[in-house]
Amino acid sequence: MIDPDEFRHHAHKFVDWMADYLQQVEKYPVKSQVKPREIYEQLPANPPLKGESMDAIMADFQNIILPGMTHWQSPNFFAYFPANSSYPSILAEMLTATLGAQCMVWETSPAAAELEERVMNWLKQMTGLPSYLDGVIQDTASTATLCAIITARERISDFRINDIGFIDFKDLRAYCSTETHSSIEKDIKIAGLGKKNLIKVPVDNLYRMDTQALEEALKKDIEAGKKPFCVVATIGTTGSTAVDPVTEIGQVCRKYNLWLHIDAALAGTALVLPEFRWMINGIEFADSFVFNPHKWMFTNFDCSAYFVKDKELLIRTFEILPEYLKTKSRGQVNDYRDWGIALGRRFRALKLWFVIRNLGMEGIQEKIRHHIGLAKSVGDIIAMENDFELMVPVLLNTVCFRYKPKHLSDDNELNTINEKLLTRLNQSGKVYLSHTKLNGRYTIRMVTSQTNVEQRHVDEALELIKRTARSIY
Ligand code: PLP
Repeated sequence: MIDPDEFRHHAHKFVDWMADYLQQVEKYPVKSQVKPREIYEQLPANPPLKGESMDAIMADFQNIILPGMTHWQSPNFFAYFPANSSYPSILAEMLTATLGAQCMVWETSPAAAELEERVMNWLKQMTGLPSYLDGVIQDTASTATLCAIITARERISDFRINDIGFIDFKDLRAYCSTETHSSIEKDIKIAGLGKKNLIKVPVDNLYRMDTQALEEALKKDIEAGKKPFCVVATIGTTGSTAVDPVTEIGQVCRKYNLWLHIDAALAGTALVLPEFRWMINGIEFADSFVFNPHKWMFTNFDCSAYFVKDKELLIRTFEILPEYLKTKSRGQVNDYRDWGIALGRRFRALKLWFVIRNLGMEGIQEKIRHHIGLAKSVGDIIAMENDFELMVPVLLNTVCFRYKPKHLSDDNELNTINEKLLTRLNQSGKVYLSHTKLNGRYTIRMVTSQTNVEQRHVDEALELIKRTARSIY
C-alpha cells in the first residue's frame, strides 16, 4: 500500500486530473461507445498477487475504464434525469471518504447526525415544505418510498405484519398512476404486498392521475373486500414531469384513511422557486414526501431527502435494538439507523451542506430557473417546426417530442423512425438523450438540467436533432 507521502503526491495529481476532466468533459463522447464485454475482456482474469503502483492503476483507469464511462456531467447529457454533481459536492465527498465514518447512530459521529438534522430543516425552508415534517437522508427515492410503503403497511396493521407476518392482512392495496415511476412497483414487491395489489390509476391528457378514477378504484376494491392503505402521488413524473393533483388526491386519502406518499424525486428541487410552489398545494394531506438532491440539486449521488409527518411511526417500523447497539444518548438524539432500512450510513449530509452553503439559495434558484428556461425555449422551437411534434407542454426541465415528417401519421411507423433517430443521435457521441412512450407513442426526452448546460449546448443539440432527423426521412 502507498505511504502518506505517496498518498499526498497522488492525491494532488488526481485533483489536477479531476479539474481537467471537468473542464474538458465536453470532448468525450457523451454516451460510452463501447460494445458489450469490451471492458470486461480487458481486465485480467485473476487478481494481482502483489500490489501494483498507483501510476499503473491510474493508467488503466484512463485507458480501460474511462472509455466505458458515460459522461453524466457533460453539458451535452440530456438523457433520463440529471445526476448533478458540482465542485462543492465533490470536495465534500473527498472529505467524507477521508473521514470514512460510519454514521449509523449519533454516538458514532454526532456531527453527522446533527448536521443531517440541520440540513433537512434547511431543505424544508428552501422548498416551502411544512416545518412540522421531520427529514432524514436516504440513499435513493426507491428506498425512501419503500420506507413509506412499509410504514403505511404497519400503520394499517397496527404493527402486526412486522410482528406476526401477513396472516390477518392478505388484501392490502396501494394505488398510483400509470405514469408512476417503476420503483413504486418494485417497492410494493419488496414490501411483500404483491405487485397485483398495486392498482395503476389512469391519467388525464396531461398524464396526471385521474382522481375520479382513483376513487372509483377504491370503491370497487372496498366492495370486493380489499383493504386500501396507501396512495403514491407523483410531483414530476419521469416520463413527462406531470404533476398529480395533490389536494384532490389528499382529500380522497383523508376520506378513506389512506397513507399519502409523494414522490417528487426529480421535480422537488424546483420548489426552491416560488413560482413552482403550487406543485405542493395540498401537502398538508401528505404523510411522507421524497425528493432527490442527487438529481437536480447539484449534490453527488446518493442523497435523497425523505420527510415524514409522524417520525414515531417511522421509527417504530424500523427500529431494532440489539445489545451491541445500545447507547447512553438514546432518546435524546436522532439515531438515524432507526429511520430507514440500512444500519450503516454514509456521511451524506456533508456534501449537501457544502452545496447549499457554496451556491446559496439564490445560486440554486438561478440555476434551476436557467434550466427550466432552456427547456421552455427548446419546447417553443420544437412546437414551431412543422415536422416535429411537442408531445406535452413543457412544464419543468424535460422536453418530450417526436419527429413527425409531413404526411406521416401512422404511429407504428413514427415509432420506428424516432427510435432510429434516437439511436443515431446517441451513436454520434455528441449528445445523449433518452426516450419513453406517452400514450403508446415513442417519445424522445430532452432534459436540460445538467449542472453546467448553457444555451449553446442546447442550440447545438437542436441543430443536430433536426439535421439527423431530416437525413433519416
Ligand atoms: N421517482 C421518480 C419520479 C424518478 O424520476 C426516479 C428516477 O428517475 C425515481 C423515483 C427513482 O429514483 P432513485 O434512483 O433515487 O431511486
